[in-house]
Amino acid sequence: MRIFDLHADIGADVLSQHHLGKENVLLTRHSDKCLKGEVSAIAMASFFSGKETYEEMQEMILTLENELENQQVWKRVLSSQDLKNESPLALMSVEGMCGIREHETEAIAWMYEHGIRLASLCWNEENALATGVKGNPERGLSEMGRHVISKMDELHMVIDVSHANEKTFWDILDCAKGLVIATHSNAYALCDHPRNLKDEQIKALAARGGLIGMNSCAYFIDHDLTKVNVDALAKHAAYIKELVGIDHLACGFDFMDFFGEEDAAYTICDMKNASYAQNFIQALKNNHFSDSEIRKIAYQNVIDRFSQYLR
Ligand SMILES: [Zn+2]
Repeated sequence: MRIFDLHADIGADVLSQHHLGKENVLLTRHSDKCLKGEVSAIAMASFFSGKETYEEMQEMILTLENELENQQVWKRVLSSQDLKNESPLALMSVEGMCGIREHETEAIAWMYEHGIRLASLCWNEENALATGVKGNPERGLSEMGRHVISKMDELHMVIDVSHANEKTFWDILDCAKGLVIATHSNAYALCDHPRNLKDEQIKALAARGGLIGMNSCAYFIDHDLTKVNVDALAKHAAYIKELVGIDHLACGFDFMDFFGEEDAAYTICDMKNASYAQNFIQALKNNHFSDSEIRKIAYQNVIDRFSQYLR
């Protein structure tokens, strides 16, 4: 079954491979694995950990954009119309906007112009705009961050709260008018990791039509790593379905195998890269999700919501 993965750090990999002198990274390192697992729609993230400058952000975004423009496999998602396309879909996203320290209006406009349709203000860090899960719990969105939210709303750029700390999460929900989602987070009630969402957060996202992408990173599934597999991830989906219904679930696997051995350890044993993604579909079946429910989690909820929201 076709899967829309709301989070893969492909932009980061493309740039680091370019620095090693490689080209065509998307097609040579990612496409086969993704398409084998029927992960044929992906939010490809340019990822920034907190130290990058605005110029470094631009370099990664431009490098991915350039690769996308020079291949025929992946169709870029720039408007709601593009989501109707049956071919593999690539939507460019940004994880963390630490490089934006001034001129935020121009920066958001530039990102939009270069294809970014989904973005989070921070990764785990504290930056000029917002506060991530490792930042000061008393600090949320800054004034500049609020302004960024209003600019994203104007452009119908989807807001991602996956790495936001609780204060930032609630600040964003308070001031955002458009679509807010958590691209790659699980249920805190089943695994109390700060990257996961508490029941009240899940309910608040659902109440405003948001989505929660199920994350295959082992540490967000169970503290007991011997219990981490696709079945345990399906249990997170079942929990969220019970809490807010099927219409708010999606996939945000956050595969990291391509970063090397060390990061590969973060992924679960029976879904270690995108080529195994159908194992999650099977786990949903085993956990008594119906075919139509599985289709919604796999891609339909994202397609429906993004089709309504993107321009
Ligand atoms: Zn992340």
